[in-house]
Amino acid sequence: MVYCDKDGVVPVAEKDLPVILPHNVPITLAGGSPLAGVPEFLNTTCPKCGGPARRETDTMDTFVDSSWYFYRYADAHNDKAPFDSEKIAYWFGKNGIDQYIGGVEHAILHLIYSRFWTKFMRDMGLVKNDEPVARLFTQGMVIKDGAKMSKNLGNVVSPDEMVARYGADAARLYSLFAAPPDRDLDWQDSGIEGIQRFLGRVYRFYLRTPPVETRLAASPAAEMTKQARTGQSPPPQSESLSPQARAIQRKLHQTIKRVSHDFQGRWHFNTCIAAIMELVNEIYGAEQAIAAGRVPASLLADVQRNIALLLAPMAPYLAHELWEMTGETSNLLKAPWPKYDAALAAEDEIEIPVQVNGKLRGLVVVPAGATDDQIKQAALANDKVKAAIAGKQVVKVIVVPKKLVSIVVR
Ligand SMILES: [Zn+2]
Repeated sequence: MVYCDKDGVVPVAEKDLPVILPHNVPITLAGGSPLAGVPEFLNTTCPKCGGPARRETDTMDTFVDSSWYFYRYADAHNDKAPFDSEKIAYWFGKNGIDQYIGGVEHAILHLIYSRFWTKFMRDMGLVKNDEPVARLFTQGMVIKDGAKMSKNLGNVVSPDEMVARYGADAARLYSLFAAPPDRDLDWQDSGIEGIQRFLGRVYRFYLRTPPVETRLAASPAAEMTKQARTGQSPPPQSESLSPQARAIQRKLHQTIKRVSHDFQGRWHFNTCIAAIMELVNEIYGAEQAIAAGRVPASLLADVQRNIALLLAPMAPYLAHELWEMTGETSNLLKAPWPKYDAALAAEDEIEIPVQVNGKLRGLVVVPAGATDDQIKQAALANDKVKAAIAGKQVVKVIVVPKKLVSIVVR
């Protein structure tokens, strides 16, 4: 814009755009725009009358850029316009960007401005979406020694230093583990050491339990292991497993279930990592059974394969190493996310006989951890029991925990 004493505010003709800012602007911090101190920029001629005029010296500040820069990403090489509206319609759709992740400090300025900017451009017909983003996620801050980590306070932990000392995987895993992503993270140097020890524990499990082919070159279990490798869990042979092996199998499927749920739906990476830690603890707790051969090699191979897959998004370097250690030659990043088997994840079930007036009338199957009330409800819902008590009045239901349900009718 140009200010003319005769014509007022006059826009610069489009053919003369852009107005290039001068170099060597004296930054005096004296207040006002430093551009006013550059006469060859300031003084110009009026596009309308050709008389003397002054240029606008208030340039748009960075908030303007941050209000709309993300639209430019969709058409970054356009030298004719800010963007092609058709490309924005393609990438932004009706609802805008799928997911925005930012700190809470953006909640008032940048986010409000970018919403305003979007609505303004919508009204001008430049974009079709009403909002810049569909979903906002506000991540927590990193706190150290009771204060927000900041250069001003000098309490900054350099990621480079952490990576050099503990490795990139440990540094990343720790920052994901220390708090849910929407909460502030209280940085503890001892915490990252704990994570490093955990990764060492995982690595040693693979070292001690080498690829199953090496151990089982010509054993009948090799075929089953092949199945495990192709992404399928070993056949549900829980009855033939030792109690320790069944516990590992159950924990494996429970872990896949938990990590899948917390990772996808909730972004609670901290509980994902905690679940993998529990699985690794289960393995170490069964060391004697493993050494004695009471845990099938195919199951251990399945566990190893899945731990590598579950760790891959959070500790990719180690995960790739582990993947190769299992004998895999395929690309870990292209491997499908593991699936769990709900039946194998379930707690074991027990069979409880149901008597009606002292006579065996049915059997109910309940989870081993079922409460007396759950057992009672299961007994009363059993078809054979229902038939036996039809038309009669139930006087009493006695549950002998894990053993028997006795129903007295009249
Ligand atoms: Zn003029």
